Amino acid sequence: MTSPSPSPVSPVGQRPTRVRVDLDALTHNLHALRAHAGVPLMAVVKANAYGHGLVRVGLHLQAQGVEQLGVAFLEEGVALRRAGVHVPILVMGGIFGPQAAELIRNDLEITVSSIDKLRQVEAAAEALGRKATIHLKIDTGMERIGVHSYHAGGFIEAALASRGCVIKGVYSHLACADDPDSPMTARQLERFLEACAHFTRLGAPMPVRHLANSGGVLHFPQTHLDLVRPGIALYGVLPDPASRPTVDLRPALSLVSQVVYFKVVPAGHPVSYGATWAPAVDTRLVTIPIGYGDGYPRALSSRGDVLVRGQRRPIVGRICMDQFMADLGPDGTAYNEDAVVLIGGQDGQWIRCEDVAQAAGTIPYEILVGLNGRLPREYVGGDAALAASLAGAG
Ligand SMILES: *Cc1c(COP(=O)(O)O)cnc(C)c1O
Repeated sequence: MTSPSPSPVSPVGQRPTRVRVDLDALTHNLHALRAHAGVPLMAVVKANAYGHGLVRVGLHLQAQGVEQLGVAFLEEGVALRRAGVHVPILVMGGIFGPQAAELIRNDLEITVSSIDKLRQVEAAAEALGRKATIHLKIDTGMERIGVHSYHAGGFIEAALASRGCVIKGVYSHLACADDPDSPMTARQLERFLEACAHFTRLGAPMPVRHLANSGGVLHFPQTHLDLVRPGIALYGVLPDPASRPTVDLRPALSLVSQVVYFKVVPAGHPVSYGATWAPAVDTRLVTIPIGYGDGYPRALSSRGDVLVRGQRRPIVGRICMDQFMADLGPDGTAYNEDAVVLIGGQDGQWIRCEDVAQAAGTIPYEILVGLNGRLPREYVGGDAALAASLAGAG
């Protein structure tokens, strides 16, 4: 069928399937989370800002007055610096010795997670004739990186004695804070505070203590300490089905497309690879031009839903690399170029990232960061002057 009314066709050269990011939702979440925590905020923008676009989100949050950004890797920090981000940036991942000089040169704050790594950072700082700004990483139960809290005394003493390093922060990471009922968080907080007490015992000033990820911010006020480090909540998504919406958050990301094909499929005629699904009665299907090649999970095959004309329609058959089919039923209507929403709202109906994750058998994080570079990003809201300067820069 051909559309009887003006439809949202995109100009040639711009793929109509896209990630749409509402920058005003990010602004709202930033202020709501900071007001809730009552302390400064490090916005976590690793993994392409959870799929929202590293540079655009970093610049936007900077324009909104965020105190600090957090990334996982050196390369992410360098990309932000090259784009003109000047607020403090902490690289939270473990570092390799040879990266220390590059971290210092780019004015990136370094996670020091062992005495060995302290020595490597020190050596690089001395060679450059500069000071490294470091955060000491204490392991309180995650068993990922960091010095065990029960060995923190010697580690902190060594760091305090280091000439090349300025200790700006001390931190740890919570393993179970997305579950408000887990007893693990209280145990981790206790171990962290015991480790921090070494600064007092050694007569040193207390650095910035930070512990709370999104779960910590939402569920455990005692973990807010001097700075909070939310990631997923900043994007308006809850970390886990067990999480409680203690802060009013707005989802910033939508995933949208358009109908590219409409047809009637007779009863019993199977659909898509493997012929895993067939309609019981003659039915009407639409084809939507996005697939697992974009990071839309194949696990949603015959499980997920999409919104077409304000109605929730089931995905039928296997999701292909670039396309999949949805069932409108025997009487459903849709036209080529009709708007399709895969994540987000349409005519009062919503498909949340959390719903998609549940249908795909994973967590919302993996859905967001999976949306890859084949999908154009479109930004709405935010600061017009910033948008214009970025458009001018090409
Ligand atoms: C990813 C990460 C965060 C943010 O986690 P969310 O659950 O997305 O809030 C905070 N701190 C560290 C060390 C991280 O790796």
